[in-house]
Amino acid sequence: MTASATSGTLAGADHTRGVYNFSAGPAALPEAVIRRVQDDIWDIDGSGIGIMEHSHRGPVVDGVWERTEAACRKLANIPDDYAVLYVQGGASTRFSMVPANFLPEGGTADYINTGSWSKKAIKEAKLFGSVNVAGSSEDSNFDHIPANLSYSATPAYLHFTSNNTIFGTEFSAEPSCPDGSFLVCDASSDIFSRPIDVTKYGLIYAGAQKNLGPSGVTLIIMRKDLAERCERTLPSMGMYKTFAANDSRYNTPPVFGVYVMGVVFDWILQNGGLGVMAERNAAKAQLIYDALDSGFYKPHAQVGSRSMMNITFNCPTDDLNKDFLGEAKGHGFDGLKGHRSVGGIRASIYNAFPASGCQALRDFMRDFAQRKG
Ligand SMILES: *Cc1c(COP(=O)(O)O)cnc(C)c1O
Repeated sequence: MTASATSGTLAGADHTRGVYNFSAGPAALPEAVIRRVQDDIWDIDGSGIGIMEHSHRGPVVDGVWERTEAACRKLANIPDDYAVLYVQGGASTRFSMVPANFLPEGGTADYINTGSWSKKAIKEAKLFGSVNVAGSSEDSNFDHIPANLSYSATPAYLHFTSNNTIFGTEFSAEPSCPDGSFLVCDASSDIFSRPIDVTKYGLIYAGAQKNLGPSGVTLIIMRKDLAERCERTLPSMGMYKTFAANDSRYNTPPVFGVYVMGVVFDWILQNGGLGVMAERNAAKAQLIYDALDSGFYKPHAQVGSRSMMNITFNCPTDDLNKDFLGEAKGHGFDGLKGHRSVGGIRASIYNAFPASGCQALRDFMRDFAQRKG
C-alpha cells in the first residue's frame, strides 16, 4: 500500500474567497483539498469517471479505500490490531451503537459529562444499562474539564468527549482508564488536531464534518478484538463487526466522504503531520485567547480547560454581542454566533482554518474592545 490517498502534492494554504469561515461544523476545508476534489469529481485516477459515479466495489474505489486507510494509519501511527472503519449516521448514532455493542445486560458504563454531546451519549446509554457519571462540570455550565473522577467498580467502558464543541473546553490528555475497562472517545471536534496515542483507546469515533471532511461519514478507530465482540443480537447495521468484517462495505458506504477524508489525511501528512497541526493550532488559538484576556471580554472556559478548536466568549452585554457579530460580518467573518447554551461568540478554528483568519479576528477583537470598552 502507498501511504498517500492521492497522487501529487496538495500545495497552497489559505482560502482566497474573501470570507473567513468560523463555522463549528460542517467547517472550513483546506483550499488545496477542495481544488483536488474538484478535479476528481470530474475524473479520478484518469478513469474517465468522477469519484461520485464509481461503483463502491470497483477498482477505483478499492484504490481509494486502500490509500485512505494507509494514510490514516500513517498519520496516527495506528497499529495492526486496530481497525479503521467508516460508518454513517454521524457521531450521534455512536451514542447508542457503543452501549448496544459493549454495555452488557445489567452492566454499568462510566461517562464523563462535559457538555451537550456527553449528555446525549449518556441518555442513549441508559437505554441499554446503567450509567455512572464519573465526573461532571454541569454545575458551572460546563466551563471546565472535571479533575476528580470516581469510577464504578467494574465499568464496561469509560466514555469521554475529548473536545466540547459547544462549550469550548478540551481534555489536555486522556483520563486514566479503570482496570479491565476500555476507553471510548467521541473525538468529533478535535481528532487529528494533535498527536494521539491510539493504543490508549478501545474505540475512537469522529463525525468527519469538523476536522476531517464533509458530513455524512464517521471515522472509527477501534481495537480489532472489540470489533469482533458484541453483547447483543442486533440488526446487522448496528454491529461494529458487520463493518469490520466487510471492510466498511457491507452496504453502499459514503464513498465521497471517505475519499475526501483521504485527501485531508494527505494534506495533514504533507504539512508535517499531527505534531505540526498541534503547534499551528496552539499558536492560532493563542492569538485569540490573548485578545480575549484583555479584560473586556468574558471567556466561557476556565483557563486550564480551554479548547484549541472552539473558543467561546461573551461581550459584557447582549447588545454588545449583537454589535460584535454585526461588525464581524462586515469584516468577512462568518459563523461566529455562539451556540445558544453559551450565547455570545464562538470561533471554531479547526486544522483547516488559516492562521491569517485568527490574526484578523484578534485585530478586530482588540479594536472592538478599545472602541466599546
Ligand atoms: C458535532 C458533534 C457531534 C454530533 O455529530 P453528528 O455527526 O452530527 O451526529 C457529536 N459529538 C461532538 C463532540 C460533536 O462536536
